[in-house]
Amino acid sequence: MGWLGLDDTDSLKGGCTTAVFFDLLHGLPEQVIVGTPRLVRLWPFARRRTRGNAALAVELHSLDVDALVEHLDAWWVEHVAPLKGAQQDSTISNRAQHPASPGMVWFNHQPPSAVYFKGVRGELSLEDLPEPTRSWGDYGRIGATAAVAWPGERCTWEAIAWRSESHSGTSRSVDEAALSEVDSWPEVVFSRDPRRGTSLIAPRGSSPVLFGVRATSAKAANKACSTIANGLKTEPIKASMVFQTNQASGDHLGEALELIVESVEVDPSRKHAKVHTNGPDVLAFFEGGPVNSLARWLRGGDVFRVKGLLDHDGNLHAEQMKVQTWLPRKHERPLCPQCPKRLKSMGRGQGLRCPACKFKMEEDAWVAVECTPPWSSWVEPEVGARRHLARPLAWDN
Ligand SMILES: [Zn+2]
Repeated sequence: MGWLGLDDTDSLKGGCTTAVFFDLLHGLPEQVIVGTPRLVRLWPFARRRTRGNAALAVELHSLDVDALVEHLDAWWVEHVAPLKGAQQDSTISNRAQHPASPGMVWFNHQPPSAVYFKGVRGELSLEDLPEPTRSWGDYGRIGATAAVAWPGERCTWEAIAWRSESHSGTSRSVDEAALSEVDSWPEVVFSRDPRRGTSLIAPRGSSPVLFGVRATSAKAANKACSTIANGLKTEPIKASMVFQTNQASGDHLGEALELIVESVEVDPSRKHAKVHTNGPDVLAFFEGGPVNSLARWLRGGDVFRVKGLLDHDGNLHAEQMKVQTWLPRKHERPLCPQCPKRLKSMGRGQGLRCPACKFKMEEDAWVAVECTPPWSSWVEPEVGARRHLARPLAWDN
C-alpha cells in the first residue's frame, strides 16, 4: 500500500482537479482497494496556486504495488500530462494565474506531517519536498505531496457532484427546496450565507462541479449530496464523491499575535483598514465584516490579538481579532464634588468652576469617558467571506 497525490490540473477556464482525480480512481485496476479520498486546501498566497488551491490524495492498497505504479504511469501519460499548460481565461478573474502544471506523486510510506503544515502556513517549494517513491510532472507535485502528508486529524467532509457533459456550458440547475432541507441539518455546514440568504453550495463559472456540500461527518455529506442530486429541479449529475478535507481545520493559522496599535489607516471609499503596529501591518478588508469594523475602531495605544496569514509583503491578513486593552476615546471635565453638575473651565490655566454651586478647583483637570469596543470577544468574518480553511470560532467554545 501507499499514498497517491495529485494537484494542479485545473486553470481558471474550467477543468477541475477533483474531476480528473475521480476519473483516475475509477480507472484503477480492480484489485486495488481505494481508501478515503482527501481534498486538502493549502496556503492561499502560494505563488503557483490553482483556482481553489486544493490538492487531492488517497491511500491505496494493492498486493502488487509495482503493477499499480505501472498503471499510474500509463494513466498519467494518457490522461493527466496532456492537461499541462491549459490556458486560463483572464476575463473570469484578474488574479495572476499560472497555466496548469500537473503533478502526481506516489509514496510507499506517508511523508511526515511537517510537510503539510509548511504547505498550509506558507510557501512550500520543490526543494522542500521529501523524496517520493515515484513522481510525475511539475509544480503540481508540491500540492500533491502536501496533500499526502496531511495527518487528517482535524477534518470536515465535502461531497462533490460533477455535471453531466450534456449540461456543461448551460446555467446550473440545483433544486432550491432540497438545498433548504439539507441546510437545516445540524451536520451540514457553510451551505448558506445567513446574511444574504444565498447558497454557497454551487460554484460559479465553467467548473465541471455542479455543487459541493460540506458537513461535519462523511455520512451527512453523503446523504446531503443524494438529497440534492435527487431534488426535482436538480439537473442530472455525472457522478459524486465524498472527500475528507482540511476545510474548517484552522490549520493555516498559528498562535495569535498580541500587537500594540500605532495608527489606523482607512481607505475612505472602500473602507479597507491597515493597522500599523509594533509588529507587522495588519490588513482588515471591508469584506471581513466584524474584523474590519473592529480594526477601524482601534486607535493608537490599544492592544489587540490577531490571527491571520502573512503575505509576500509581510502584511498580516487578519482573520480573527480581539481587542485586549484600549485607551479612552474622549475626556471630559470632572463632576462637581458638591452637586451633580459638571465643572467648567474658567479659561486656559484658570482652573475649573461649578456653574451651579460655584465650587472652584485650581487644576485644569480632565477625566476619561469610559468607552466599550463594538465587540469584546474574538470576531471573524461572516461565513460567506471566510477562507475554506477558517475554523469557526464557535467550534472551539
Ligand atoms: Zn457644584
